[in-house]
Amino acid sequence: MRPATELIHAGERTDAGETTSLTVPIYETSTFIFDSVADLIKYQEGKLNAYLYSRYENPTVVAVEQKLAAVDGAEASLLFSSGMAAIATALMTLLKAGDEVVCSAAIYGGTFHILEDLLSKFGVERRFISLDELANPGAAIGPKTKMVWFESPINPTLRCVDVRIVADACKKAGVLSVIDNTFASAINQPVLSMGIDLSMQSATKYLNGHSDVTGGALSGSRALITPLSKTRRLLGGIMDPIPAFALGRGMKTMPLRIAQHNANALTVARFLEGHPAIERVSYPGLASHPDHAIAQRQMSGFGGVVTIDVKGGQAGAFRTFDRLTVIKRAASLGGVESICSLPMLTSQYGLTDEELAKAGVSKGMIRISIGLEDASDLIADLEQALS
Ligand SMILES: *Cc1c(COP(=O)(O)O)cnc(C)c1O
Repeated sequence: MRPATELIHAGERTDAGETTSLTVPIYETSTFIFDSVADLIKYQEGKLNAYLYSRYENPTVVAVEQKLAAVDGAEASLLFSSGMAAIATALMTLLKAGDEVVCSAAIYGGTFHILEDLLSKFGVERRFISLDELANPGAAIGPKTKMVWFESPINPTLRCVDVRIVADACKKAGVLSVIDNTFASAINQPVLSMGIDLSMQSATKYLNGHSDVTGGALSGSRALITPLSKTRRLLGGIMDPIPAFALGRGMKTMPLRIAQHNANALTVARFLEGHPAIERVSYPGLASHPDHAIAQRQMSGFGGVVTIDVKGGQAGAFRTFDRLTVIKRAASLGGVESICSLPMLTSQYGLTDEELAKAGVSKGMIRISIGLEDASDLIADLEQALS
């Protein structure tokens, strides 16, 4: 063979089973070889277990999806290039013109906008309901309702919704229940075992946990996941093999990480609750939290996000924010590094005072994603910033 031919083909073909690699390799390939037309026919007829094209499926991604299904307690799971790709795929598959989604008004901004700005163009109807209405979901479900979509805990107030009550009401009405379980993860809140039909997560946050991957996840029954997988092929939102590899590595330590996030956050929340410069601490693990009882019923740990209301309103929050040194100023959450954000300048940016009040968000709020540093260092950082 000529050098160019040799160079392109040398060493590239490694069939599964040929090596004894302990971990799954990164199959960074866009496509897969078929040996014959007979094999291709068998594949198309579903009689050959093979891969065709990485927008459809990829072995590295499938391996990590199996981990995800294991942690979520799901029959099947899918990975996406972002949380938003997962949300878009779920909504576009499960809804059609004339269907109504009942959605919590306290929801991730991207979810709100995809429903309000995009799905509205395809005739999908949206009804946004308050937490009080969500506490009695049966009454909120109407004749056109096809799906109830909600979160718990909710950003940035960490208010909680009784997951079983929503799941039961949806089952009774024959409506799909979908939760964005990003903040809790299945380690703290195994939503599928509580009767939820579909669990969505931003894998960017606790699933990966190392702030170096953008990804999304859907988990549920095989019957629900199969059509979602078909839409993923069409929309093209599958995760790439390299981030899938990183996510798979991150997920292996998830139980350890989440346990430490829970412990660190509770320690920091308890310290902050007694601090004279703090107006209020919102953390579902504190007895003072309005939904502590709900959280105790459905969460085995209360997560790593703590929201504080600093005395002195916006000026107090800005001053504290700028003085933090160990805790970095950055959007997102769920990584090993502690980071903080100002809801009024991120998730709730541009809202009027009235809208802020309705969302339970104040100008003195700082949301802290507690990482895996020593809790005493985080407390010392907060102490100096608040002094
Ligand atoms: C980050 C986030 C999303 C969106 O996920 P991306 O990975 O950023 O696309 C959705 N829901 C919640 C609750 C989030 O925190």
